[in-house]
Amino acid sequence: MKKLFAIRKLVVLVSVVLILSFTVLTMAVAESASSPLPVKNVIFLIGDGMGIGQILVARNASVGLDGRLVLETLPEVALINTHSLSDNLITDSAAAGTALATGYKTENGMVSVLPDETPVKTLLEAAQERGMATGLISTNTIYDATPATFGAHTKSRSMYEEITAQFLEKKIDVLLGGGKDRFLPSGVDVGKRKDGRNLIEEAKGLGYIYVDNATALKLAKGNMLLGLFHKSYMNYVLDKDDYGVENVEPTIAEMTEKAIEILSQNQNGFFLMSEGARIDHAAHAVDVAGVIAETLAFDEAVKIALDFAKKDGNTLIIVTADHETMGFDITEPLDYEVLSKMKVTPEYMALQLEKDDKGVFTTESIREVFAEVKHAGITDLREDEIAVIQAVSDKYSYLVGWEIGSVISARANMGSMTTEVRALSPTGGHTANMVPLFAYGPGAEVFGGVLDNTDVARIIATLMGTTLD
Ligand SMILES: [Zn+2]
Repeated sequence: MKKLFAIRKLVVLVSVVLILSFTVLTMAVAESASSPLPVKNVIFLIGDGMGIGQILVARNASVGLDGRLVLETLPEVALINTHSLSDNLITDSAAAGTALATGYKTENGMVSVLPDETPVKTLLEAAQERGMATGLISTNTIYDATPATFGAHTKSRSMYEEITAQFLEKKIDVLLGGGKDRFLPSGVDVGKRKDGRNLIEEAKGLGYIYVDNATALKLAKGNMLLGLFHKSYMNYVLDKDDYGVENVEPTIAEMTEKAIEILSQNQNGFFLMSEGARIDHAAHAVDVAGVIAETLAFDEAVKIALDFAKKDGNTLIIVTADHETMGFDITEPLDYEVLSKMKVTPEYMALQLEKDDKGVFTTESIREVFAEVKHAGITDLREDEIAVIQAVSDKYSYLVGWEIGSVISARANMGSMTTEVRALSPTGGHTANMVPLFAYGPGAEVFGGVLDNTDVARIIATLMGTTLD
């Protein structure tokens, strides 16, 4: 009985705290009277896996430790807790995206539904209710977890056919990224859909302009735009020249610029989510050069958004991450010499390896690939390093890349999770580290202190003059 009373007391206390914090939030929002509410446009830039360590290596490699990336110049900063529902300290991109898109926590793997599969309203849907134009961009497949959580509701992040179909049903005005395979039926081009639908043709029927390369993207005019630039993930920034696709695959900055150009035609404003997805992928492989290149490319997109917001005067910019990946950090003995040789990603190196008739990577090909100057230029590989790579001979090339990247970064004394701990991690190396949030624009001063990822969605909704419930 005493325990029950204690629980009741706790419930009352929690309710009071919740009401108080809501009041404070509303007051804080109302106080930003310098600009009229609601804010007209929202540009939400998410660097997947981009923690403070990822930002610091990118800063140090570009403008130096005393310089600032564009994203670091945004005036308001907060720290964000990223854990997913229950006692799951470590989130995946689906649960984290759901929190950022809807203000609700859910289980890992779920896309904007609660654990009982009830769908919850997303910021993108709230924007549509307000008559705003909407857009999603990712350097991953456009149907991957982060964009999916803004534009779809599925019990699993791997329901790609369902996710892409929901994007079109919602008539999201701009969709740009990789993932052409799930827009086409199997048997047609790179198509993998089992339901026989051709969503590219369907999109054209709905009024979308369709483009599949960077040049066409630049020239595109209209109100609705579908751009699919790769059958799967778009290539890493570092690998584009090696595959000769610089003119095929636009940068995230180019996609963001075009999306703003198209969406800003709407008199009621727009909501755009643009994801630098491959920061996370490079971080999983402890690919420092890759993280630097992807983070700097993402920062260029932030610059495009910020330039627009400064001119427009009624645009809110939010830059944050969904979670941190691999516990990335700069150490005292970090050897930039080793890292600076990397002009390709470890995944690119993985794809150059040759197998023997037992399906195992040959020692000679491993030595050759590592010795190549623009790769790592490492000519003294040890037996144990070769064994680690041979042990994953039957795995996907990106997983082989994880081991290659770990070998190189260990030689450079990079601070990160070990390959053994990563192997035990269901997310493949995400951490519970808080991630930074940077904000600019009307009402941005509401962001500050330590927030939960669900707070971010709710604050944005309030500033947009909408609600998520
Ligand atoms: Zn990840």
